[in-house]
Amino acid sequence: MNRMPGLPESVASDWRSLLISLDSFAWQEIPCRAGDIVPLTWWTSDIEDEQAHAAAACAPCPALRECRAHGLKHIREEGVYGGLTPNARRQTVDGL
Ligand code: SF4
Repeated sequence: MNRMPGLPESVASDWRSLLISLDSFAWQEIPCRAGDIVPLTWWTSDIEDEQAHAAAACAPCPALRECRAHGLKHIREEGVYGGLTPNARRQTVDGL
């Protein structure tokens, strides 16, 4: 999950905070780092079916709530965050 290049500073700052939080867990606990449930590339895939599988694989992540909050705050970022695909995040924000 390296999405730092090209991010506006406000997004990058939140992103660094999320990374610090993720680093408090063993990498094996974070499905998008461990890559043992679905391929790592599926978290940033453009293919909706792969995104959906990655989103489902987020379920046991100890950082799910924080990651989801980041994804919902920065809705223009691509990729799966906190068990939500980009489309699911947009629909969630639209419904608020
Ligand atoms: S919730 Fe999903 S995308 Fe976020 S850190 Fe955990 S596994 Fe990665």
